[in-house]
Amino acid sequence: MSMMRHKPAVLGGTPRFAEPVYVTRPRLPEHRVYSELTARIFETSWLTNDGEFVRRLEDRLRVRLGAGFCASVCNGTVGLLIALRSLDLRGDVITTPFTFPATTHAIEYSGLTPVFCDIDPYTYNISPEQVAEVVTASTAAVLPVHVFGNPCDVMGFERLANEHDLKIVYDAAHAFGVSHRRRGIGSWGDLSIFSFHATKIFHTAEGGAIVGADPSRFASVASLRNFGIVNEEVVRGIGINGKLSEFHAALGLTVLEMFDDEVSNRAQRVALYRKRLSVEGISMQRVEPDTVPNHAYFTIEIDTDSFGMSRDQLHRAMRAENIITRKYFYPLCSDNLAYRSLPSAQVDRLPNAHRVASRVLCLPLYGELSLDTIEGIAECVLSLKHAAASLPSNDVAASL
Ligand SMILES: *Cc1c(COP(=O)(O)O)cnc(C)c1O
Repeated sequence: MSMMRHKPAVLGGTPRFAEPVYVTRPRLPEHRVYSELTARIFETSWLTNDGEFVRRLEDRLRVRLGAGFCASVCNGTVGLLIALRSLDLRGDVITTPFTFPATTHAIEYSGLTPVFCDIDPYTYNISPEQVAEVVTASTAAVLPVHVFGNPCDVMGFERLANEHDLKIVYDAAHAFGVSHRRRGIGSWGDLSIFSFHATKIFHTAEGGAIVGADPSRFASVASLRNFGIVNEEVVRGIGINGKLSEFHAALGLTVLEMFDDEVSNRAQRVALYRKRLSVEGISMQRVEPDTVPNHAYFTIEIDTDSFGMSRDQLHRAMRAENIITRKYFYPLCSDNLAYRSLPSAQVDRLPNAHRVASRVLCLPLYGELSLDTIEGIAECVLSLKHAAASLPSNDVAASL
């Protein structure tokens, strides 16, 4: 590698990129492909409510995700609400604080009480062992998240569920297309929800799905996403409008065609990042063995002492280079004012989550990001480490 290091922009150098490099960018088909497919919608005027595109997408996804059924929904958050409602739960739901706010909000919106459990410091997921320590007589369910697409210990959760008679709902918003132990990620637990938001690896602009191994759950989930309407005469349960439109489903069909290509492009980019960034002070999430990953995210973990600067300093310094990184997931959900006073949200109960949330940085990754850009991003990280090492430590804080 060249010894001519780039002078960091925070130290007066020129920003490495003239235009911002964003953390992700949605994959889209050619406009022509989408307009040809959706011409049919203009012929039939069938825009929503169990149309042919929604049915086709659900069929394709069920097979793709290795699930017994797939019900599309308007977004992942509503998917969580419907999944929890369909299981008719009361009491507490144990979950992770290291996630996107929707996970905790969905529990609270459902009239249930979130109970935070600390995460594993290496996989970033909650583990069955840690959850077992916080299970009480009021625990109704566990809502683990496959964070950054890394599968939870699904076998362990299965045993825990049987032992304590708990439901398991996975927030699989990051895990589309992941397989684990030669099974699709959506085949574990009672239900799993996916998000098809524009920023997720498979998207329908906005959208999501509820999937599970047991096809007999489809009917209740499908009626809850349509106000609880069973038929013209019968409305049962407290449903909501959670339907995906035909336009979104059609977009999903086109994006699905490109999914394998997207994953393999990302795999190549992740391999390059890993090669360049295996230096002291940077560590990476430990992935469960026997997993086929989707490379939805690429995160690094910064150790302030050995890297020479903190994650927050690196985040700011990268921004000066026009590289937009994300502190996923900081702040923790347990630090939200709405949840902060819960006993389980106390800082001393969640030491690993606090540590990881203060150290993780998500770097730009998407299939169309050029390998040269990845080289440039990695070069900036390394130049910053080098610059930090060559400045006295209190100067690092002052300059960055
Ligand atoms: C994106 C996301 C959601 C919410 O999905 P939407 O489709 O945006 O409603 C839920 N959980 C996690 C972990 C997410 O990343």
